[in-house]
Amino acid sequence: MFFLSKRDYYEVLGVSRDASQEEIKKAYRKLARKYHPDVNPGDKSAEEKFKEVKEAYDVLSNPDKRARYDQFGHAGTDDNGFGGADFGDFGGFGDIFDMFFGGGGFGGGRARQNAPRKGSDLRVDLEITFEEAAFGTKKEVTVPRLEECPECNGSGTSPGTHPETCDVCKGTGQVRINQKTPFGHFQTIKTCTECHGTGKINRHPCDKCYGQGRVRRRRKIKVEIPAGVDDGARLRIAGEGEAGTNGGPAGDLYVFITIKPHEIFSRDGYDVYCEIPVDFVQAALGSEIKVPTLDGKVKFTIPEGTQSGTSFRLKGKGIPRLNGGGRGDQYVKVKVITLTNLSEKQKRILRQFAETLTDSNRNVKEKGFFQRFKDAFMG
Ligand SMILES: [Zn+2]
Ligand SMILES: [Zn+2]
Repeated sequence: MFFLSKRDYYEVLGVSRDASQEEIKKAYRKLARKYHPDVNPGDKSAEEKFKEVKEAYDVLSNPDKRARYDQFGHAGTDDNGFGGADFGDFGGFGDIFDMFFGGGGFGGGRARQNAPRKGSDLRVDLEITFEEAAFGTKKEVTVPRLEECPECNGSGTSPGTHPETCDVCKGTGQVRINQKTPFGHFQTIKTCTECHGTGKINRHPCDKCYGQGRVRRRRKIKVEIPAGVDDGARLRIAGEGEAGTNGGPAGDLYVFITIKPHEIFSRDGYDVYCEIPVDFVQAALGSEIKVPTLDGKVKFTIPEGTQSGTSFRLKGKGIPRLNGGGRGDQYVKVKVITLTNLSEKQKRILRQFAETLTDSNRNVKEKGFFQRFKDAFMG
């Protein structure tokens, strides 16, 4: 159990059992400076030390707590005096002390209940076209969300009225329960169930929001989609999520982008890919073809002897980069198609042609081809 392994508080601070308040304070300051998380960022053991030191000081600097500790040891600082509880998280330790000794911590719970809270973030999905993603666009999305109630400006009370102080807890948000234990009378503090810890009762709730302070609305929000955005991108629109509570800020809206598949183009990063069919005559003789690009059709000359599956690059015809810096390229893959529905005359010509073929016609000289391609297109 956690407290069993706890070190002696005097040992932690390195002071004697009869140390004066001044000595305790001095020892604490010295150690706190040494182990403070700001001085030791990311150092877990320093953080643990700092917590230990702070805990020891919290007890020994308070004459009442110190007396109790001297008498009962760590058990005297436990929740119910029997040491059954595991504090788990040191963060809650101060509260346990306050609970136990009734000291100073009153209203802590209420502060949390009434603290400003940021509104929830929202997600909306948006499908755009290939071209819209490439060049950017403006869209409108409809978002159902909680907004501050315009009737009561978020207070939840009907106009001209105010929440009343809770009778049960007298506005503290907490109720004390006295407990008798072997170590004496102690008070435990619980959140007031009447006002749920807010300390206030809303006797005249706003008609429009039924006292919630927020109302659900369908809101149209303009979204500016930057050029170059890719499938799966998330755009964050600050402050367009749900309204906060108790004066807290609104959450954010996240727009998840999906891109509709294109009939011709596909995309990898900022490069665009497409396939262009040519017949074997065009491929064999070389030919000027029209290639669709994001900027419209462009003329492009394939060299003679082009093989099916060969890719050509159109420099700068890809997608604009998100943060400026030019555009990607377009890769055009040639697909040679075999002609069909030939007439008798065409077949006769082809047969005559076939008789003239030699091995060298079928000899694909890759290197020579690439060289020609390079000369012609890569400049
Ligand atoms: Zn309202
Ligand atoms: Zn109350």
